[in-house]
Amino acid sequence: MKELENKILEEGVVLGDDILKVDSFLNQQIDVELIKKMGKEFAEHFKDKKIDKVFTVESSGIAPALATASELGVKCVFGRKKQSLTTSEDVYHSSVFSFTKQVMNELIVNKEFINEGENVLMIDDFLANGQAAKGMIAIIRQAGANPVGCGIVIEKSFSNGRNIIEEMGVEIYSLARIAKLEDGKIEFAE
Ligand code: 5GP
Repeated sequence: MKELENKILEEGVVLGDDILKVDSFLNQQIDVELIKKMGKEFAEHFKDKKIDKVFTVESSGIAPALATASELGVKCVFGRKKQSLTTSEDVYHSSVFSFTKQVMNELIVNKEFINEGENVLMIDDFLANGQAAKGMIAIIRQAGANPVGCGIVIEKSFSNGRNIIEEMGVEIYSLARIAKLEDGKIEFAE
């Protein structure tokens, strides 16, 4: 998605050799018009998969997941990283290693929100080592639902997340693929 690549080049900040900061349009302030276009792009790509639900992880996946669910006319569910007082006892959970925080997080979803036989599309802001997506797939499978695809806003294709997720039999579609983050420069994959 050319507009997203341009935005990354204009506003993305490279931290070290492997972190891209995009707080100005995705991770803290949200460029609503750009997010809506992402939703259209994901919905168009996955339109033949008979999606019943869009699933993401709080908090940065919610905006693109919501835009996609809105385009598809389905509900959007997000996994929580902490049990809250309003989370029921009856939950699916998996453990996810957080790339940016370097800690183990829980991923928790009330059982009533993902149902057996549903076709679930996962959406997330970044794909690095595939841990967040792996955690989502584990929950979808615990529910007896089908992980039918994974839409990623920014894929760091120098990490091995794509291999891990494709080996689990799930298709990935990324809007921007970064081949290299080096010396503060961003290089996109072909
Ligand atoms: P993974 O689970 O694939 O290793 O990493 C993906 C998760 O880590 C995403 O949900 C995202 O929140 C976070 N993440 C990974 N790499 C980056 C990055 O370069 N920048 C930002 N802002 N988040 C990242």
